[in-house]
Amino acid sequence: MNILILGSGGREHALAWAVMQNPKCDKLIVAPGNAGIAQIAECASLDIMDGAAVTIFVEQNAIDFVIIGPEAPLASGVADRLRDAGVLVFGPSEAAARLEASKSFTKEVCDAAQAPTAGYGHFTEAEAAKAHIRQHGAPTVVKADGLAAGKGVIIAMTEDEALAAIDDMFGGAFGGAGAEVVIEEFMEGEEASLFVLVDGEEVLSIGSAQDHKRVGEGDTGPNTGGMGAYSPAPVLTPEIEAKAMEEIVKPTMKVMAERGMPYQGVLYAGLMIKDGQPRLVEYNVRFGDPECQVLMMRLGAQALDLMQAAAEGRLAEARVNWGDDHAITVVMAANGYPGSYEKGTVIKGLDALPEDSSNMVFHAGTAAKDGTIVATGGRVLNVTARGNSLKEARDRAYAMADQIDWSEGFLRRDIGWRALD
Ligand code: ATP
Repeated sequence: MNILILGSGGREHALAWAVMQNPKCDKLIVAPGNAGIAQIAECASLDIMDGAAVTIFVEQNAIDFVIIGPEAPLASGVADRLRDAGVLVFGPSEAAARLEASKSFTKEVCDAAQAPTAGYGHFTEAEAAKAHIRQHGAPTVVKADGLAAGKGVIIAMTEDEALAAIDDMFGGAFGGAGAEVVIEEFMEGEEASLFVLVDGEEVLSIGSAQDHKRVGEGDTGPNTGGMGAYSPAPVLTPEIEAKAMEEIVKPTMKVMAERGMPYQGVLYAGLMIKDGQPRLVEYNVRFGDPECQVLMMRLGAQALDLMQAAAEGRLAEARVNWGDDHAITVVMAANGYPGSYEKGTVIKGLDALPEDSSNMVFHAGTAAKDGTIVATGGRVLNVTARGNSLKEARDRAYAMADQIDWSEGFLRRDIGWRALD
């Protein structure tokens, strides 16, 4: 089988690594890829937002299966263009991708599905939004409706902060994403993510994870794209996971199918858990990054079979072959991230690492230059390891990270603390 993966981050390196382990994979191309991916697969330059260009590329390269990594091409209909051309694709349609691209859409689908989630109001102008805030008070959560790369969410602890957030959003701070605003009830609890494959009808859990969004140890400082993650998430017990599937995931997938936009791909359910009850925070329509890295490390070669079963509508007969294992990924980022940081610094020591089925460094923002690997982004490497316990996985990951010679980068030393305490 010839496979094309779209994307260029640590998530896509992990997907490529898992896919390459499956003997079914004859050829793998990743577009555009990165320096780490180039060590295990062919990379091709291609505009992944251009559905017509991707379709031509697929025909020219005799690709049998396309896996779409990031949300942007999904939200702009690249999966639809490919399916129209008869190509087998893993990833939802543009209509179904609204579960991530529009927060008000998701809230409304949750209402129809009676799925537990935060109470909310949806507004298209500032005065009505402010009246809602004055009526409900703080704390509250103000969200730009559209995609804002994780930055369009303000947790307001006071009414004044919430009112200021409304002015910012309707004032254009998030561009078109903030033309509509959702105001949510503030939910307390512990967050965890559940990853579910969906084939339009059937659903199959492929594991849970927790990530660390803040840049600093002890979960302090500004938000980032994620400084590390681990799987499974102990807070998501089998009982709570079953509740999340029955009360949240299955009913929303049923509503999507009934409305003529069946969901196909991976559904990432962000959950808030309190007193044994999960409530939905958000859906994402793709794997999380860095959560994908720990999921792929645990699933290995079977990830390809499972994604193919979802794309072909065969999930009813699919099973996950679970190992009793744990995985962790530690992000190495450029000094200064998530603020400004230097690009082009040289990373040494990667060649000497023991990369195998339990130890991998997935590249995020790297490039090859004059025979060296240089950093090209904020989040640069995902040092990932698997073990019989989370502690074993963590010790392996940090042992690897300590062999990497990159003084212009940093990492958090406490990834997994909540689960290990
Ligand atoms: P990302 O893509 O980074 O996950 P996003 O822009 O899609 O973010 P959300 O996931 O909806 O936005 O919110 C970001 C974070 O804000 C959540 O992970 C959660 O920690 C917090 N949050 C969002 N909604 C609520 C809520 N109603 N109550 C409490 N916390 C919330």
